[in-house]
Amino acid sequence: MIMTIQDPTDPRQYDVIIIGAGFAGLYALHRMRGMGLSARVYEAGPEVGGVWFWNRYPGARCDVESLQYSYSFSPELEQEWVWTEKYATQPEILRYIRHVAERFDLRRDIQFNTRVEEAVYDEAGARWELRTEAGERVSGRFCVMATGALTVPQLPDIPGIERFAGKIYHTATWPHEGVDLSGRRVGVIGTGSSGIQAIPAIAKQAEQLVVFQRTANFSIPAWNGPLQPEVQQTWKKDYREHRRRAREVGTLYEFSDKAASQVGEEERQREYERRWQKGGVNFVHSFNDLMVDKQSNDTIAEFVRAKIRATVKDPQVAESLCPKDHPLGSKRICVDTGYYETYNRDNVKLVDLKKTPIREVSASGVHAGDVHHELDVLVCATGFDAVTGALRHIDIRGRNGQQLSRKWAEGPRSYLGLMTSGFPNLFIITGPGSPSVLVNMVVGIEHHVGWICDCLDHLRRQGLASIEAGQAAEDRWVEHVNAAANKTLFPLANSWFLGANVPGKPRVFMLYAAKLWVYRQECQAVADKGYEGFTLAAVPRPALAEAP
Ligand code: FAD
Ligand code: NAP
Repeated sequence: MIMTIQDPTDPRQYDVIIIGAGFAGLYALHRMRGMGLSARVYEAGPEVGGVWFWNRYPGARCDVESLQYSYSFSPELEQEWVWTEKYATQPEILRYIRHVAERFDLRRDIQFNTRVEEAVYDEAGARWELRTEAGERVSGRFCVMATGALTVPQLPDIPGIERFAGKIYHTATWPHEGVDLSGRRVGVIGTGSSGIQAIPAIAKQAEQLVVFQRTANFSIPAWNGPLQPEVQQTWKKDYREHRRRAREVGTLYEFSDKAASQVGEEERQREYERRWQKGGVNFVHSFNDLMVDKQSNDTIAEFVRAKIRATVKDPQVAESLCPKDHPLGSKRICVDTGYYETYNRDNVKLVDLKKTPIREVSASGVHAGDVHHELDVLVCATGFDAVTGALRHIDIRGRNGQQLSRKWAEGPRSYLGLMTSGFPNLFIITGPGSPSVLVNMVVGIEHHVGWICDCLDHLRRQGLASIEAGQAAEDRWVEHVNAAANKTLFPLANSWFLGANVPGKPRVFMLYAAKLWVYRQECQAVADKGYEGFTLAAVPRPALAEAP
């Protein structure tokens, strides 16, 4: 039985409206269409790809190995696609996503260049009514927010920045035609993952590069290189098994069953060195207590600081590059290609903003401490209004006209990270309260989409019209998510995980820090118990009385 109740006289009514055409929106469309639902995707950009369409800065690539950072839903797709590097570049990932859109004929149900500005739940009709920037109106019984966790660029609020006479670029809105930096004096603000990838690449092009660092970050060498055909073939032979395991843990690393606190100094150093030589995020899994025991974490952090001091020739620069104010991994770990080595180049200078803060930007450059740095180009690698940013930019109103941004004014609240009470039939992918950016996101996305599709199937089989997170279940989940974070070292850093990078954003750890398999089991258990904690209804719920 197909649930479609699309009104044939009004082509703008769908079963499901999906917002966003990145990894999440495309997979949601594929699955929902496969269920016989009428689904339509609205995408602000002119092309599929999401993050991989927008983030075109020099050096942009994934830091989960390409063979894992890809869809698992089609065995044919994973066999036929050939990755050329261990960590694929942005253009290669975008080519892959475009290939997926063609192969599964997705484009015909995607409307590009269409930003959704408003989503209002019509209680009487039990439908989401959406309005786009151009004033177009569409509606869907269900609405899926595939709007991305790292979508809204965060620009630094520095006095005088509007006076800068040169060009200013944010890494996430890098011009598609590219930027010729040869012979230019370039400043980069920000040393998170984007800055750490861009800085070595920009240093090779620019005449001079000045890096403005507020917080030193831990970065692990990628040791990237071509993906040898035999390595790829061997992996592909066991792809199904690799994928099965990835669904449990997110990304396949060598997970240790030993605690750093339980082994001697020599064994610790040997293990850190072995993993450093292999590179990547695997390094963080050297021991199983590194994210919960500060003393253990100090040992791995000190190992990295020793590597920085051994790599960077100028001891003062090396000291500035050594992170000392947060545990390793409590901010998103970075993976680089020649990052620390870049500071040995004659054309690269580090400005430590902890010692010499930026005072202002003028027409000709950046004034930090007592020094004026003359610049032609300013690159802001200053991150995102993460996890909730894209949702905050849509005026979302649920039952009784309640605004999502108001509901979340003190921090986001969700049940399972998938729905939020007061907003029936509105699903969020990789949203707050889910593992989201803490795991390989393609794996997380496939899980979320799968859970949502199972839920829609359940509703249709039971003849039900709506599902809504219950208040009590949501409260319990928020407590549970907070408790999981408090068992870890995550709260010890001023990170974007906590919203600390956006002035005025409530300081709440937004992600569910449990293991992916635990989260999956919890989601499955809720579904198995008939969507325990949710309210399922056959007909639209009556509107609540207006508050006096
Ligand atoms: P996105 O790719 O962000 O897509 C969301 C889409 O929604 C965008 O195209 C946006 O234009 C659209 N949209 C948003 N709001 C609206 C609106 N109101 N109306 C219409 N359209 C809208 N994760 C990993 O696991 N491994 C990695 O190695 C990794 N590398 C990354 C590198 C960079 C540079 C960045 C920025 C992120 C990286 N990530 C990585 C995280 C990345 O966000 C996810 O892996 C994944 O690409 C997210 O896909 P998505 O579809 O959920 O969101
Ligand atoms: P980010 O991690 O938030 O880093 C932003 C940087 O800008 C930080 O160093 C921050 O300093 C600095 N900054 C912000 N405002 C500033 C200001 N006003 N003055 C000076 N410095 C300022 O953002 P990102 O690097 O774009 O990365 C975001 C996330 O995207 C990553 O964590 C990751 O999940 C994903 N990503 C992944 C990859 C990859 O390798 N695959 C690449 C890029 C992005 P503070 O730390 O002091 O705030």
